Amino acid sequence: MSQPHSRIVIIGGGPGGYEAALVAAQLGADVTVIEEQGLGGSCVLTDCVPSKTLIATSNLMAAMEGTRDLGITFDHAVPDAETAARPGPEPVSASHAQTDAPRVYSRIKRLAQAQSADVGMRLAREGVRVISGRARLIRPGAVAVADEVIGADTVLIAVGARPRDLPGAVPDGERLLTCRQIYDLPELPSELIIVGSGVTGAEFASAYQALGSQVTLVSSREHVLPNEDTDAAMVVEDVFRRRGMKVLSRSRATGAKRTADGVEVSLQDGTVVSGSHCLLTVGMVPSTVGLGLGEAGVEVDDRGFITVDRVSRTSAPGIYAAGDCTGVWMLASVAAMQGRIAMWHSLGEAVQPLRLGHVAATIFTDPEIATVGASQQELDSGKVLGRVVKLPLATNARAKMEGFSDGFVKLFTRRNTGIVLGGVIVAPMASELILGVSLAVEQQLTVDQIAHTFAVYPSLTGSITEAARQLMQPAELN
Ligand SMILES: Cc1cc2nc3c(=O)[nH]c(=O)nc-3n(C[C@H](O)[C@H](O)[C@H](O)COP(=O)(O)OP(=O)(O)OC[C@H]3O[C@@H](n4cnc5c(N)ncnc54)[C@H](O)[C@@H]3O)c2cc1C
Repeated sequence: MSQPHSRIVIIGGGPGGYEAALVAAQLGADVTVIEEQGLGGSCVLTDCVPSKTLIATSNLMAAMEGTRDLGITFDHAVPDAETAARPGPEPVSASHAQTDAPRVYSRIKRLAQAQSADVGMRLAREGVRVISGRARLIRPGAVAVADEVIGADTVLIAVGARPRDLPGAVPDGERLLTCRQIYDLPELPSELIIVGSGVTGAEFASAYQALGSQVTLVSSREHVLPNEDTDAAMVVEDVFRRRGMKVLSRSRATGAKRTADGVEVSLQDGTVVSGSHCLLTVGMVPSTVGLGLGEAGVEVDDRGFITVDRVSRTSAPGIYAAGDCTGVWMLASVAAMQGRIAMWHSLGEAVQPLRLGHVAATIFTDPEIATVGASQQELDSGKVLGRVVKLPLATNARAKMEGFSDGFVKLFTRRNTGIVLGGVIVAPMASELILGVSLAVEQQLTVDQIAHTFAVYPSLTGSITEAARQLMQPAELN
């Protein structure tokens, strides 16, 4: 039974915080959210939502690049009156289409603010009290914001993370940028150097190349996206290079500085790379400084992330933590689930501990990489006993019609039972296609069950059922 009068105080209004607030309010608790930046958090205001909005534009630009093959040509585009009258540089051209950067960025900010307002309205409707300000723990059960001290039966810390600085490269918001500063630029960077080829670096590299920037991607590792499925990373790197991106592998950046009209990035081997702007994407650090974690007895790991168990409990009784500040898996969906689990647990509801093996994730490059469940590395190392089939999309009829050939569908199954353990999809909109595999992993479906499921013809999902058919085994071979 829930405890209707529990007082819940949530520090941070991102997905980890606001989704938890909605659950707690639904269970009848007295809920306060304290947020210093704006509801929706960095997810909505500076990170996930803005970057995916940028990518919506860049995907369209990339699609327009391929229109000639599909039999479409454009007349020479005439700028509208607003664009023609605007002072400053000409919009950067990507063959037919042109990127109007100020308009792209203002749309992104408008959309983020609207999304933040939606979150605010939803919380207000559910009776959640929202305080604008910076909160600090005084002790377990007491949170301070400005002059007010708020008592709580349960505190949830969901303060998120911020971009890590590269020693020797101090962002100035003009030429040396973090991913949160890029939307304030007055123009599209003509020559953008991106330091870091993890998920954030690869997504921005893909987007800016399509928007018309000349992108140089500095990767300290053998290939881009070193922590992802290698086959998938290689497809994306190959596409990057074919589209004219410079990918510098095994190149560790040691510093970056401004020059008279641009930037210079120094690499460990002594090379200096020049460009108009530099975007630093070298990881995230938890936003826990000055939060009073020590006073409240909340333990952190050696990188400063709050240590939590699978029901989001910290080391301090009555204090839970969710989202990026725990460093568990920096995804909005994981933050939200950790927050909800914290509330269900603290309010006495039945709760299933967090299962990271079932998380569906996407890297929004072009093409996208979507994954769920077991990985190729786990199969290769013998940690998971499974079988794998990988089908290139180049032979898929729908892919041919749509005019793309880069991508594949990969399915992993348990060796003896044929239960689906996971999958990787590399394709446009893979983020939408992965749901079928995700459902199979969650429900422990077998390849036989997927193989007997109708897929539309022609469709990309037809390659999922085809992969399942190839993994079906006669009983005597099991
Ligand atoms: C460029 C980029 C793109 C991303 N794209 C995706 C994506 O496509 N899909 C995905 O799932 N994830 C994505 N992520 C990750 C996602 O944004 C995070 O996992 C998510 O924001 C985590 O939510 P959170 O609630 O933990 O933290 P946040 O969203 O960071 O919210 C925390 C909030 O706490 C507030 N706060 C901090 N300290 C205090 C304090 N002391 N008092 C009051 N308030 C405080 C902050 O102001 C902030 O608003 C992306 C991240 C980046 C950087």
